[in-house]
Amino acid sequence: MANIKIENLTATYENKKKVKYTALDNVSLEIKDSSFNVVVGYSGSGKTTLLRCIAGLMDYDGYIFIDGIDADSLSVQERNMSLVTDKFVLYRSMTIFENIAFPLLINNAPKEEIIERVNEVAKKLHIEHCLSRKPKHLSIGQQQRASLARALIKKPSIYLFDEPLSNLDPINRSEARILIKKLIKETGGTCLYVTHDIKEAMALADYLIVINDKKIEIEGSPLEVYNSGNEIVETLKGDVENNALF
Ligand code: ADP
Ligand code: MG
Repeated sequence: MANIKIENLTATYENKKKVKYTALDNVSLEIKDSSFNVVVGYSGSGKTTLLRCIAGLMDYDGYIFIDGIDADSLSVQERNMSLVTDKFVLYRSMTIFENIAFPLLINNAPKEEIIERVNEVAKKLHIEHCLSRKPKHLSIGQQQRASLARALIKKPSIYLFDEPLSNLDPINRSEARILIKKLIKETGGTCLYVTHDIKEAMALADYLIVINDKKIEIEGSPLEVYNSGNEIVETLKGDVENNALF
């Protein structure tokens, strides 16, 4: 539970030859407490960069406030965020139980509480029968749910999702999407979910932000944005129709 206020955010990468590349240019955005926000845009538009700035993984110009506090002054722990990407970084040598429990183990949570919370979240994600296995003995869909379970068990105030379902097949993807929305609504966290798929964005968003070429193109309620006639929105819609045809 937290609101995020972004003011004039500019993020720049520098390569080995010191050549600079601006990936986000003067972006301002307000994310309301406990809302499900989806950022949609083409590959290379700056979506991952936006999440990396919020997560404190890269430097930027401008401001990010979390509940009114300058994020620059907060440690990673104090930010209390979970980041889920399409690369499920499960520890290969640990069981799924240990993987899910990891955020609680490093916080020295009591053993009984760990057992109770791991079982609770695993049940919600339908992987309770996988807890004693190692990651390599799980399907891709189960691995992704285990990594989601690890994000949920922290009970963070902010969830950041970076195209978390892109490695799943369409059926698993739409099931996982419904599950994510349901679980986030239950836990009440603020969510920023990144995708390049406007259909996925429409299915999930309370608030929709379209990002294009380093800037916010348009934002608003999903229907407002979808029916805006905006050129980028129309091309994103066209991509879905073309994919459906071929
Ligand atoms: P998206 O997630 O929307 O695909 P990114 O935020 O990953 O876009 O990237 C935005 C732009 O920044 C892209 O043009 C990308 O090539 C560039 N970029 C991303 N990471 C780096 C990096 N480490 N070094 C240089 N340029 C980068
Ligand atoms: Mg990306």
